[in-house]
Amino acid sequence: MASKNPDKVTEIEAVLGDSGLAGEIVRDLEWPDVPETGDTLEENALLKARAVVEATGLPVVADDTGLEVDALAGAPGVRTARFAGPEATYRDNVVHMLSSLAGVEDRSARFRTVVALVFPDGVEIVAEGSIEGRITEEPRGEGGFGYDPIFEVGDETLAEMSMEDKNRQSHRAIALRALIDSVGL
Ligand code: IMP
Repeated sequence: MASKNPDKVTEIEAVLGDSGLAGEIVRDLEWPDVPETGDTLEENALLKARAVVEATGLPVVADDTGLEVDALAGAPGVRTARFAGPEATYRDNVVHMLSSLAGVEDRSARFRTVVALVFPDGVEIVAEGSIEGRITEEPRGEGGFGYDPIFEVGDETLAEMSMEDKNRQSHRAIALRALIDSVGL
C-alpha cells in the first residue's frame, strides 16, 4: 500500500479484511516521497504506485482522493490536500473550505477516489469510487480524518459515523471493491 497516511491505511486494511482476501499490508518499507504532479487523480494514483513498485519490487496499491464541490466548479479536486496551501493541515483545509463556502446555499459535493494496482511486470489496473454529500456549516464528529467532519451524507458527517458505516459507503471502499472485482479476486 503506497501510503504514509495511517488514517488511509487503517481504512483500506478494514475494507480488504472485510472482502475476505488473504493477505497483509506491508508497513515497514521505506520509499522516497512521491510528488503528486499529475493533473488528474488517476495520474497521481499511478505515479505513487509506480514509484513504490520501483522502490520495493512489490505489487502496490495507491489511492488518490479529491473533494469536488459544485459551488466551486469541482474544486479543490486534484488539489484537495493542498487546498489551504502547500503545508496545509487537515484543520487548515477544513477552515478554508468553510470560509470559501460562507453564505453559499448550494453545498453539494462528492469525494472521488481512484485506486491503482501496479505489478512489478508493468501490469496496471485502475478503479474508481465516489460518494455524494454536502459540506456542512460547522465541523461535527470526532472520527475519520481530513474533511470528514464537514462532509455530510444523510444527516451524519463521515466523522460522526462508525468506521464500519464509513467503510460500507465511502468513495475509498467503493473504489477498492471495484478494484477487487476487476482483478477477479
Ligand atoms: P490524497 O489522496 O492523500 O492526496 O488526499 C487528498 C486530500 O483529501 C487530503 O487532504 C486528505 O486529508 C483528504 N481525504 C482523503 N481521503 C479522505 C476521506 O476519506 N475523508 C476526508 N478527507 C479525505
